[in-house]
Amino acid sequence: MTPNDDIRDLYQDVILDHSKHPRNFRAIEKANHTAVGHNPLCGDQLTLYMEMDENSLIKDVSFKGSGCAISTASASMMTEMLKGKTETEAKRLFDYFHAICTNNPSASETGLSEDDTDHLKAIAGVKDYPMRVKCATLAWHTLIAAIKNETKVTTE
Ligand code: ZN
Repeated sequence: MTPNDDIRDLYQDVILDHSKHPRNFRAIEKANHTAVGHNPLCGDQLTLYMEMDENSLIKDVSFKGSGCAISTASASMMTEMLKGKTETEAKRLFDYFHAICTNNPSASETGLSEDDTDHLKAIAGVKDYPMRVKCATLAWHTLIAAIKNETKVTTE
């Protein structure tokens, strides 16, 4: 077994753990940004809740819904990543994640923490399965919709 296999196994464990025990799986009563995301290809559905302060700082973020293991793990890991970040930082993470999921060479890690990029790379491992990319990116598309105050988003 090569060291790379070890790392891949480690992150598969992390993804599995998040899918079985999703973090921040609750509604936020004081949420001032919410959106519903739907991935009809797989049947994933989630509602994203976000409390953002006047300085565009994400004070709290959570989700509820039902979906496959990948969509649940991705949403769970995303909420852990976003707490305490600004809207600009959140969009930068989305751009990076979207780029690596679509093999876009313009993906830039500038301004991102290694911990965050490692987690995003782990989920982006699904990029070889185009159907699963929609599962992995659903939470992120829903986040962007919530930031823009669009209430509904679909991967179609
Ligand atoms: Zn799915």
